[in-house]
Amino acid sequence: MADLLSSVSTAISLATRLREIVKNIEDAEFKNILADLSIELANSKLKIADLISENAELKEKLARLTSATGELCPKCNNRTFELTSTKPHKTMGRLGAMERVYTCSSCNFSEPKLVTP
Ligand SMILES: [Zn+2]
Repeated sequence: MADLLSSVSTAISLATRLREIVKNIEDAEFKNILADLSIELANSKLKIADLISENAELKEKLARLTSATGELCPKCNNRTFELTSTKPHKTMGRLGAMERVYTCSSCNFSEPKLVTP
């Protein structure tokens, strides 16, 4: 991807050099096409920069998801369903039952689980 960006940068500098040369030529159509080409190249460079940034974010997200060691989330199926709090159960706490709340860090799904002794 970075190679792609440097290719477009080279193409932009070539177009800039052509614009310098074309100053001595009186062909309006040629000048217009060259101007359009320069604009397209500049837009392509911006789009590539966006793609590089998005790709880096996606790689980071993928690495986070594939290295996650939590339980399988019942909603999104990622291993990012983890224990976030625990307390004695409202009615069965006196008997030792605990209510553990699990929350998924990928999709924010949350669910309490009853754990009996
Ligand atoms: Zn989830």
